[in-house]
Amino acid sequence: MKAFAYERASDAAAAVEAAAGGATYLGGGTNLVDLMKLGVAEPQRLVDVSRLPHDAIEETEHGLRIGAAVRNADLATHPVVRERYPVLSEALLAGASGQLRNLATVGGNLLQRTRCSYFQDVTKPCNKRRPGSGCPAREGEHRNHAILGHSEHCVATHPSDMAVALAAIGATVHVLGANGERSIPIPGLHRLPGDKPQHDTVLNPGDLITAVELGAPAPRSTYRKVRDRASFAFAVFSVAAAVELEDGTITEARIALGGVAHVPWRAEQAEDVLGGREPTAEAFAEAADAELEAAQPLRDNAFKVQLARNVLTRTLSELTA
Ligand SMILES: Cc1cc2nc3c(=O)[nH]c(=O)nc-3n(C[C@H](O)[C@H](O)[C@H](O)COP(=O)(O)OP(=O)(O)OC[C@H]3O[C@@H](n4cnc5c(N)ncnc54)[C@H](O)[C@@H]3O)c2cc1C
Ligand code: SF4
Repeated sequence: MKAFAYERASDAAAAVEAAAGGATYLGGGTNLVDLMKLGVAEPQRLVDVSRLPHDAIEETEHGLRIGAAVRNADLATHPVVRERYPVLSEALLAGASGQLRNLATVGGNLLQRTRCSYFQDVTKPCNKRRPGSGCPAREGEHRNHAILGHSEHCVATHPSDMAVALAAIGATVHVLGANGERSIPIPGLHRLPGDKPQHDTVLNPGDLITAVELGAPAPRSTYRKVRDRASFAFAVFSVAAAVELEDGTITEARIALGGVAHVPWRAEQAEDVLGGREPTAEAFAEAADAELEAAQPLRDNAFKVQLARNVLTRTLSELTA
């Protein structure tokens, strides 16, 4: 790892000023430090934002405001989150390991980089790491890569479980940048690769995530993750779903998929099919088919289409039983 300078920001404004001078934010370091060891990231100066006073979880008029420095473990076990947003708690607990969740922050979790093995190997080309160098994953190892929304330039998937839950229930990310504060909705923070896969999000350089705000509670919600082993593994496929029922009819379905795209994928086609329908296996299968019609699997990941159909159908059936 290359030598770097380390400092702690005294407040958010000081952190943003340091970033304007070229510093890189450090949250829990569970992703960034790994990438520094691999030579993928080579910051000369780190500004630690994990100890900023952005560590509260507060109830608001409409939902919940979560500071960007809140640790994943604390968020997952917060009583209000467990009761009103079980999908978020379950998604967090499905990620990484207990030790990692104790360190990882909300801000860092949202901005963690893809686990594509070519991205993490500096001896290989990769458009995301070195724009214009090519995408070896397209013809190479891509079993875990995208089936939706990918481009000829990048077929990587977004790795965060938490972001999939936030994309389903809907959230707002609060950001402080060189030009002041602004808010960005989720979905909307992460972007599809297009011809600029080096940009994972719509954030500008130096933007500091200060908080994430949740909207309406989703007490009937759940997260299901399929992975190659029971813990310490990223999603091959995942689904976050929140459903509201009235008199045996679905009044609202909010669904997002993980492990299928460069973004946490909001399943709007599936949601449209379900509005006003009775919660039957046929309706859920129809919804899954509507969403997956746009799938463009790669040579070795066509299995994800059937997997997604099965898991989505079953998850919705259990959630509405
Ligand atoms: C072995 C292993 C298994 C894992 N398994 C999973 C899994 O199954 N599911 C899952 O979702 N995750 C998994 N993870 C990833 C883990 O969740 C992330 O590493 C973690 O959430 C990142 O948070 P952090 O605070 O440590 O971020 P850091 O590593 O500190 O930072 C990540 C990025 O965010 C930026 N950043 C940090 N805070 C801010 C801020 N406030 N504003 C703007 N930018 C900021 C940093 O500059 C950096 O670019 C795993 C990690 C490991 C090592
Ligand atoms: S899929 Fe994306 S991250 Fe992976 S090698 Fe291709 S360009 Fe790089």
